[in-house]
Amino acid sequence: MIYADNAATTRMSQTAIQAMLPYLDKLYGNPSSLYAFGQQAREALEDARERIASCLGCEAREIIFTSGGSEADNQAILSAAALGARKGKKHIISTAFEHHAVLHTLEQLKKQGYDVTLLDVHESGLITEQQVADAIREDTCLVTVMYANNEIGTIQPIAEIGAVCREKGVLFHTDAVQAAGHLPIDVKAQQIDLLSLSAHKFHGPKGIGALYARRGLALEPLIRGGAQERNKRAGTENVPAIVGMAAALNEACAGMEATSTRLRVLRDRLIAGLDQIPYGELNGDRTQRLPGNVSFCFEGIEGESLLLLLDDKGICASSGSACTSGSLDPSHVLLSIGRPHEVAHGSLRLTLGEDATEAQVDEIIAAVTDVVSYLRGMSPFWRDLMNGKRPHVFAE
Ligand SMILES: *Cc1c(COP(=O)(O)O)cnc(C)c1O
Repeated sequence: MIYADNAATTRMSQTAIQAMLPYLDKLYGNPSSLYAFGQQAREALEDARERIASCLGCEAREIIFTSGGSEADNQAILSAAALGARKGKKHIISTAFEHHAVLHTLEQLKKQGYDVTLLDVHESGLITEQQVADAIREDTCLVTVMYANNEIGTIQPIAEIGAVCREKGVLFHTDAVQAAGHLPIDVKAQQIDLLSLSAHKFHGPKGIGALYARRGLALEPLIRGGAQERNKRAGTENVPAIVGMAAALNEACAGMEATSTRLRVLRDRLIAGLDQIPYGELNGDRTQRLPGNVSFCFEGIEGESLLLLLDDKGICASSGSACTSGSLDPSHVLLSIGRPHEVAHGSLRLTLGEDATEAQVDEIIAAVTDVVSYLRGMSPFWRDLMNGKRPHVFAE
């Protein structure tokens, strides 16, 4: 099997598994218990917090553990919105191609009377700090822009947006779920106030994540109950998962430069190979993209059929995002960069992980080339395109 869906989730690293095992087994104490056995778990928890903070350039006390990226996004946005409302500020700026954890939270806030501006995304899959600056108003309380997109991999100018927000006194949140462990992050230098991450996107366990919240921000708890996480997230901490997340993030950050250099070469080889398929186009900027992300649209095919046939050939890939597959709506991300509906339906996302090889990349290129031409051979829609009954979207 070739696993090329690392944006959906990743294989756990051995380092993370080994780090977790003692806490799944003998060291099962509750970190809130006062006796030494509980305090041993407490120490592991606080050590993990330190290690995660050091990867992000913040203080340990600025890290809150959550059940994953979605929870961190929800808490960051709802907290910032509540803080804004107290000052009579109920305008939020975001982009049209955020993850649903952000977009659906913003939808909820709209129903509560907030005004939300979604910035248009350029066809390159990028927004500019100027767009953010132009959209900020007197009553803006929050800007939330994702660090790197989960479908098309484009990387936003985070430090520049951070500078604009800090200057205008507006809180800045970034969903860094696709970036953490893959791209350098320094929340102080980049002037980020709130940042979400999720362990299973960087070879840690599923169901655990973290929210960085700049010191002094009065975060609202999303989950109420006990006094864990300085009253900002109730519930007994998932110690094994937290320890695994810290181990995975440390490992990913230590190897980041070497891994991304290697992955960029493989990514560009894959892009060059798929570029040979006629009437297809890469989605998103060629260089401002995650080291392992390749996303294409092909005319005259259905993404779902493409995925099933690739699966037959032992290749795990994705079309749109995992959250929207199963529904017939084309991806909101592809629509946001101006792909027409019929082309957005024929999308393919391949996300390489660190164990990807050149031989695998070549196998993927051959398989996709085969499957695309097979599907087009059966498609009446494709026949119309070739007969000139429908206009092409892409050049040959
Ligand atoms: C995966 C993902 C999330 C959700 O994270 P979970 O830990 O699965 O809840 C949020 N945002 C982005 C960009 C993601 O890729």
